[in-house]
Amino acid sequence: MQKTYPIKFQRHATPAAVTDGIGRQIGYLRISVVDRCNLRCDYCRPAADDFHTAPRQHLLTFEEIERIVRVAANLGVEKIRLTGGEPLVRKGIVELVARIAAVSGIRDLAMSTNATLLGEYAQPLRDAGLHRVNISLDTLDERKFSQLTGGNLRDVLRGIHAAQDAGLTPIRLNAVLLRGINDKEAGQLIDFSIREQLELRFIELMPMREGMDWQKHYYPVTELLVQPEVMERVDMTTWQRQGSSAARYLALRHASGRVGFIEPMSNRFCEGCNRLRLMSDGKLRPCLPADNEVDLRSALRSGSSDDAMSAIIRQAAASKQAIGEYRFEEVGRQRSMISIGG
Ligand code: SAM
Repeated sequence: MQKTYPIKFQRHATPAAVTDGIGRQIGYLRISVVDRCNLRCDYCRPAADDFHTAPRQHLLTFEEIERIVRVAANLGVEKIRLTGGEPLVRKGIVELVARIAAVSGIRDLAMSTNATLLGEYAQPLRDAGLHRVNISLDTLDERKFSQLTGGNLRDVLRGIHAAQDAGLTPIRLNAVLLRGINDKEAGQLIDFSIREQLELRFIELMPMREGMDWQKHYYPVTELLVQPEVMERVDMTTWQRQGSSAARYLALRHASGRVGFIEPMSNRFCEGCNRLRLMSDGKLRPCLPADNEVDLRSALRSGSSDDAMSAIIRQAAASKQAIGEYRFEEVGRQRSMISIGG
């Protein structure tokens, strides 16, 4: 039985809370800690010859990240997710987790990871104050996994078990839907999530600045939902969306739990979006598909006060776009997902 860790996530109105132009209160900061990864998923990063990581001196230091988290927490941010690249390849990641966990006001500290290094890191991360992990896994076929990612499926499975043993729960499993690659595996992935007591979420492929042919591999959730293997496993009458979650959910039919669907292409959920994204080079990105970033690194390195940094965070929030304003097909061309962090 999986150990669970109760996440207390009560919104408290702070006088200084940041809201965007249409009243969405920002409570969630995703932080990409590095733009390198130990996998090379075809849909996430541009072809090798077109991929350049940011120069080392552009990478935010732990002190800088911690300071941004403190300023953000004072503005009402309660939830932090560390991402990458692969966050576990950032040297000293356990120390960074401990620093962020100690910031007053942070109630939910999570990480998105490919899990390949969790065998080694799960327990130290838990001890440092990480609450939970989201794990990316698109296929349970070893050969396909290694073709798609360059990695070894067995490392991921070991990582999942280590996260369970360490109590980094609830664990979510994120699977990107890829036509012609894993679109026939939905039933298997659901069964795996039931067996392992993970919450599975399917994600529609986004046409970021990546190598994979989006037109060819995009597989919408609407097609998934008419697959007999899916229909027999989920109850189609139970649609539910919770708070600011990007996913909507269906309950499982023959087990407790649910399956999530994240539909950035076919059923965008902007109205509940309460997040900002900090890139590893210190740029703050208001909306995932749009390149209108603001520069926190320069502010930090030119001696700006906390008030000045708060003003920049407010500026980023204010520039979050109204609902559904962007089309992924037309924007988001400057960064690939590996540098945004999902
Ligand atoms: N390395 C970590 C991981 O594997 O979760 C964190 C970074 S990764 C960029 C975050 C998430 O973005 C993963 O779940 C990945 O599958 C997803 N992702 C990457 N490219 C995507 C795309 N073009 N469309 C949809 N999701 C994508």
